Amino acid sequence: VPVERALVVGGGIAGMSTAIVLRKLGIDVDLIDRDPAWRTYGAGITISSPTLRAFEQLGILEDVLRSGYSGHGIRVCDVDGNALREIADPPSFRGSGGILRPELHRILSGKVVDLGTEVRLGVTCDAIAEREDGTVATFSDGRTGTYDLVVGADGLYSSTRRLVFPDAPVPEYTGQTVWRLIAERPEDVDRRHFFLGGPTKVGLSPVSESLLYVFALETCERGAPISEADAVDRFRALLDGYGGIIGKIRDGITSESSIVVRPLEAFSFSGAWFRGRTVLVGDAAHPTTPQLASGAGMAVEDAIVLGQALSSASTVDDALATFMHRRGLRCRTVVENSLHIGRLEQSGAPSAEQTQLVADSLEILAQPI
Ligand SMILES: Cc1cc2nc3c(=O)[nH]c(=O)nc-3n(C[C@H](O)[C@H](O)[C@H](O)COP(=O)(O)OP(=O)(O)OC[C@H]3O[C@@H](n4cnc5c(N)ncnc54)[C@H](O)[C@@H]3O)c2cc1C
Repeated sequence: VPVERALVVGGGIAGMSTAIVLRKLGIDVDLIDRDPAWRTYGAGITISSPTLRAFEQLGILEDVLRSGYSGHGIRVCDVDGNALREIADPPSFRGSGGILRPELHRILSGKVVDLGTEVRLGVTCDAIAEREDGTVATFSDGRTGTYDLVVGADGLYSSTRRLVFPDAPVPEYTGQTVWRLIAERPEDVDRRHFFLGGPTKVGLSPVSESLLYVFALETCERGAPISEADAVDRFRALLDGYGGIIGKIRDGITSESSIVVRPLEAFSFSGAWFRGRTVLVGDAAHPTTPQLASGAGMAVEDAIVLGQALSSASTVDDALATFMHRRGLRCRTVVENSLHIGRLEQSGAPSAEQTQLVADSLEILAQPI
């Protein structure tokens, strides 16, 4: 492996997965995260079938299945919860499901620490300079370090991206805001569901034996932050007119429901995601809207492919060129198809058109990485 010492900037799904892969290759890894408490935000996360495969390759599948939920396929329903269509998981996969974000964080961060990664919290990287003998990173705590590889895994608003690619596009609001909460899972809700044909797209994913995660996509101008009291009324209003399970969940929303609201932002970065010895992974390189529920999967796959590319190359340059070659088109497909589905949702396109693009994209993602 042409790397002895690596820096990972950002301890989200992409950064933690990268640290795990690099440590398994025997590389010394420093991981920094700007959050002193190393927290995770949001409610649950849908695990599409390729994401489940990536978790298996990363060696965390059993832990994920123990804490999360695995079912089969997606049930597409009308606003009253009547089933219209089933989208099957590709036959080569063992299912799809969901997990609470804090649970996934616990599993990944536990592995990162157990594998001997040097984790430093409350720290950012303020400068990156390429030298003959390595890349020098200057940290916000005044320290510096010299590395053979720097991995920018610092998410949508990546400062590594700003430092290394000052001309990269910036995230833009896509016209949709997503509302999420966790609710109790009735036993018969045993797989992912979409509810189409209403004024908003609503979906749910079981995230454990007892809980599920609900989201609603609102088409709206980017608004001011919403107070907790307003959030209850507005979330209920968004689900107005829905019957079945969504109607029951709506009626159960109270000020105790932890509602998470987030405007969706993305961009498509068409150039290479590496320069010198610095490479971007996860949302830093290819931030996606959640229509294909594949952002986490792409982040974990980036880590796996980076590890494979490093194992079979004699220089960092060659490894990063191989990495880019294997990741570029696949990640662009996720970003662009997710944005396209978002546009179909906003224009009120027929449900069949939306679900067909989901099914076609899942076929593409079923290909080996
Ligand atoms: C509303 C919504 C719903 C989603 N739902 C799903 C889903 O159901 N399934 C799915 O697969 N994907 C989903 N995604 C996408 C998924 O959440 C992301 O693709 C994934 O979390 C990306 O991980 P990441 O590690 O690249 O970035 P992040 O999770 O953003 O992690 C970045 C980390 O870097 C740290 N950091 C940031 N800046 C700095 C800095 N300057 N220095 C040091 N550290 C820094 C942060 O503290 C954070 O820990 C969703 C996305 C959104 C917006």
